[in-house]
Amino acid sequence: MLIVMEAGATTEQVAGVCDEISRMGLTAHPIPGALRTAIGVTGNKSQVDADKILSLVGVRDIIHVTQPYKLVSRDFYPENTVVDVGGVKIGGTEFVVMAGPCSVESRDQCMIIAETIAKFGGKIFRAGAFKPRTSPYSFQGLGEDGLKILAEVRTRFGLKIVTEAVDTETLPMVADYADIIQIGARNMQNYSLLKKAGKTTRPVLLKRGMAATLEEFLMAAEYILAEGNRQVILCERGVRTFADHTRNTLDLSAVPFVKRISHLPIVCDPSHGTGKRAKVIPLSRASIAVGADGLLVEVHHDPAKAWSDGPQSITLDMFGELMNTMRLIAPVVGRTCV
Ligand code: PEP
Ligand code: MN
Repeated sequence: MLIVMEAGATTEQVAGVCDEISRMGLTAHPIPGALRTAIGVTGNKSQVDADKILSLVGVRDIIHVTQPYKLVSRDFYPENTVVDVGGVKIGGTEFVVMAGPCSVESRDQCMIIAETIAKFGGKIFRAGAFKPRTSPYSFQGLGEDGLKILAEVRTRFGLKIVTEAVDTETLPMVADYADIIQIGARNMQNYSLLKKAGKTTRPVLLKRGMAATLEEFLMAAEYILAEGNRQVILCERGVRTFADHTRNTLDLSAVPFVKRISHLPIVCDPSHGTGKRAKVIPLSRASIAVGADGLLVEVHHDPAKAWSDGPQSITLDMFGELMNTMRLIAPVVGRTCV
């Protein structure tokens, strides 16, 4: 439910309505606007006493939100959310490229790759120190040693860091080192992890589950926002279909659908989306054209020797080509890519 305040409602009147909402056992989310303040209400399991709310001083109207998602929806926040990662803004006019290897393998590996990413204009370095692998016998990541290497990348190249938290135990450690906490496809519906990420002050990159509908995807984001963290970046990374020419099917149509329903930024991951190096640049072109706010791309200096996801990792040269291409397309679709 949304409460619309009178244009001239005072801060005291807004606070009074919020107090009354709390007394009713509900949660109030004040949303200041250019013309008037609205107050989002969550926590109502049944019909709220609308007459009582309408009788409060300063209240103009009530809008019932019938969709299951509240805080992620444009009904609650009509303006695009711009997630500010220490000055790198995701969801505004700039198209932001996050790139790096699938996993942190060594200090040298990260430094070589990060240097190229910074040189060609990537803004955020990606690499997993905790890896959710299909097989328990596959490389599981370097853990805190990997996070320390990522911290060094940030200091040396000025790149921001996005890295995955795979469980609630290690999430606080990841939050200490990362600029953005990644929640992977396999954990999209790990509600305790989502809630814990929602309690941090770090932006969260939430990847779509490999068999998740858009409603499930947005409801997962709602868990994070419901805990008070509105800094969420969605990531379309492909879903499982009958197609076997690619690892997953990058669902590009998700981008305009999500943008219509939600104010949250959304980026595309053409690496996991295709699983094939040669398809990463074509799908990146499509991603910027369809309205994505950025990319998450896997890059490796020696993909044949990568410890994970080598076949989908683009080379350093290909990364340069990718950035040049994004820079050419960006102005055509009203974006910048610096
Ligand atoms: C990753 O980004 O390396 C990753 C594991 O992605 P996903 O969760 O989309 O499979
Ligand atoms: Mn990967």
